[in-house]
Amino acid sequence: MTTGPGPGGLDIGIVGAGIAGLATAIALLIQDGSKHRVTVFEKYPNCQPAFSGPVQLHTNATRILAKYGVSDQIESCLPEMHHSVQNIHKYRDGRLLYNLPTAVALKLYQSPVWNLSRNELLDIMLARASELGAVCKFNAGVVDVNVDVDKPLIQLESGETLSFDLVIAADGIHSKIRTKILGSVDPVCPLTAYSLNVDRDRLKMDKDLNFLLNRSGFWIGPKKSVVGMDLPSTCSLIYCNEKDDGEEGVWDRTFDVEDIKKEFADAEPRLLKALDLADGPCYIWSLSDIPELSTWISSNGKVVLIGDAAHAMLPFAAQGAGCSLEDSACLAECITRTNTVSDATAAFEAIRKTRTTFISAAGRLNLEFCHLANGPAQEARDAGLEMMWDKQSKREAPPPVPDATHPPQELRDYAPPEQVTNLFTPVAREYVSGYDIFAHTRSYFAAHKQAG
Ligand SMILES: Cc1cc2nc3c(=O)[nH]c(=O)nc-3n(C[C@H](O)[C@H](O)[C@H](O)COP(=O)(O)OP(=O)(O)OC[C@H]3O[C@@H](n4cnc5c(N)ncnc54)[C@H](O)[C@@H]3O)c2cc1C
Repeated sequence: MTTGPGPGGLDIGIVGAGIAGLATAIALLIQDGSKHRVTVFEKYPNCQPAFSGPVQLHTNATRILAKYGVSDQIESCLPEMHHSVQNIHKYRDGRLLYNLPTAVALKLYQSPVWNLSRNELLDIMLARASELGAVCKFNAGVVDVNVDVDKPLIQLESGETLSFDLVIAADGIHSKIRTKILGSVDPVCPLTAYSLNVDRDRLKMDKDLNFLLNRSGFWIGPKKSVVGMDLPSTCSLIYCNEKDDGEEGVWDRTFDVEDIKKEFADAEPRLLKALDLADGPCYIWSLSDIPELSTWISSNGKVVLIGDAAHAMLPFAAQGAGCSLEDSACLAECITRTNTVSDATAAFEAIRKTRTTFISAAGRLNLEFCHLANGPAQEARDAGLEMMWDKQSKREAPPPVPDATHPPQELRDYAPPEQVTNLFTPVAREYVSGYDIFAHTRSYFAAHKQAG
């Protein structure tokens, strides 16, 4: 086992204090004997993003946060254990098609599913990264990067230029650094989302809507869907349709709730009633993903894209943040287990790219599946979900996920299922939720050692 490129550790610059950037700072600094000097640059005055909606973290992601030592803090800001990870309803009449209780998800994958506000998650991650020694610089937008030199250079808005052994671009879907490596990549925006919050106290008082408390719900219908996520401080609702009305990358454009009512006039009564309880402004967003990139690394291997900069995917996968967390764990392990930065980033890309490409494509299929027009395919979908619900409740737990602190018992093939399907199929769901990035990374290096 190698201990990373050089005994003195590396100078590492991370651009972006989002989920990917902060998680990577933590992952690098909790490596055994880590001597890296990690600086995070964020263009905003703090790490509260312009887009501050809810985020659902599945078992593949919560397993990582447990290793990062932040689970207790996160759990302390969840008011109560959610009763269900997912309820799927019909958009038009509210019929329940599928329900996955929290306890079943925990039994199946030995890790919880959390719904939380991304602001709270970022606050906790920033505190942990700082405690471990990361230097987080705010109001420090990166305006230029020289990726082709031995020690990549970043230039800040202030005019200051800094050099690093490795630059990690965690600068989101509109990544500047990606443009330097690959030229421009156009995000694809198939959807508009309308986001609003409902006061939890008002929900509690409403006999039709208080079922939303401690739950996340998903309503699916022709070309439309609604996600409801109960959070500690508020209940967040996102109404989505296949229009192109939002403005890409703009998260603070407000929208009149009366216009949302018109757009979603065919929704079940509870979804319309929830709009009457909207608390504060409603926002209109555009939801996008990016096509698979030919590479995530600069030609000298010293600048690497992670998170949304590398593989922004539709929220219909509910995996963008989860995959960003997986990236963080994998990249830090790769740096520890290789002798050079370029070997580390090459191994990182080899481990990660197939998986994120699969999940991103599955996210698009999720969208198609959920927005099916009424007809035979939709009827088959509804019947399939009801059958899966029935089977799920009778399922045995799979064997425990291997503990990454011990060598894997055997080399496992972590290849995705041969055919890309939506994430409602059991095989794809197992591949996404039952996954352990630590075990995969170990298995990759063990296989390479064996191959000589
Ligand atoms: C509506 C919606 C719902 C979602 N729901 C889920 C979900 O339930 N589960 C899930 O797993 N994922 C979900 N996602 C996806 C998830 O939010 C993203 O995949 C994740 O936040 C990506 O994190 P990131 O750190 O890569 O990028 P970002 O969160 O975009 O962070 C990038 C950071 O870089 C900073 N930055 C950008 N450029 C510069 C620069 N030049 N200099 C310095 N700083 C810079 C930005 O200010 C920002 O802080 C959802 C996304 C959306 C839009």
